[in-house]
Amino acid sequence: MIGLFGGTFDPIHHGHLRPALEVLTALRLRELRFVPLKHAVHRPQPQADATARVAMLRAALRAQPGFALDTRELERAGPSRTYDTLRAVRAEIGGDEPLGLLIGGDAFNGFLDWHRPRDILDLTHLIVMQRPGVALPRDTALRALLDTRRAEQPAALNQAPAGRIWLQAVTQLAISATAIRQCIARGESVRFLLPDAVFAIIEEQALYRGSVIRDAHAAPSA
Ligand code: ATP
Repeated sequence: MIGLFGGTFDPIHHGHLRPALEVLTALRLRELRFVPLKHAVHRPQPQADATARVAMLRAALRAQPGFALDTRELERAGPSRTYDTLRAVRAEIGGDEPLGLLIGGDAFNGFLDWHRPRDILDLTHLIVMQRPGVALPRDTALRALLDTRRAEQPAALNQAPAGRIWLQAVTQLAISATAIRQCIARGESVRFLLPDAVFAIIEEQALYRGSVIRDAHAAPSA
């Protein structure tokens, strides 16, 4: 199975990397591709430009076998839609290989508001990264979807190329890119919140220093 992990990665940090490694290991993924988005659909645009975000991702992913970078959304015009990305990946790998889309538990709660969610499940499994023991979604439609699609064992994900939902317990690290940008804007160090190689790029390129102190989750753009 190949995994896909999309995000702004503005910047990539240990809160992304550790859960991603746990999924890679637990599900024995052949490869886990990090897919940085260009234009966000549901949130403010990234502050660092694509070149800087890619440089930080390359630096962070280099050390881990199985981690890979997929820049297709940066090369495509227009907003980054997961559905379009999955269709493109499917066209490349064919219809038979299982594909798993990694999303955080919070992101899963809003999954039915995404562009063509049910078509997304025709293209991929969903791997929901959850805090152990965390409550399942309350939304009735999402609960119904989970009831019909939930895989009880990871092996079920290898028995079909797409269509199942797997809840993966991962170590929760309360690190967010928003908090990292705010720290830098206040002149504080972000060392140990992200890999040293990423920290070095932020320092060298003086990234996020002039960033406005704002919360990416507080003001959705569209
Ligand atoms: P921002 O604070 O700018 O919103 P972020 O740190 O949440 O950024 P994104 O790049 O937008 O990072 O997130 C990509 C994916 O990583 C999302 O699915 C998100 O749920 C997940 N994610 C981000 N931070 C964590 C974390 N600390 N633990 C687990 N998953 C995370």
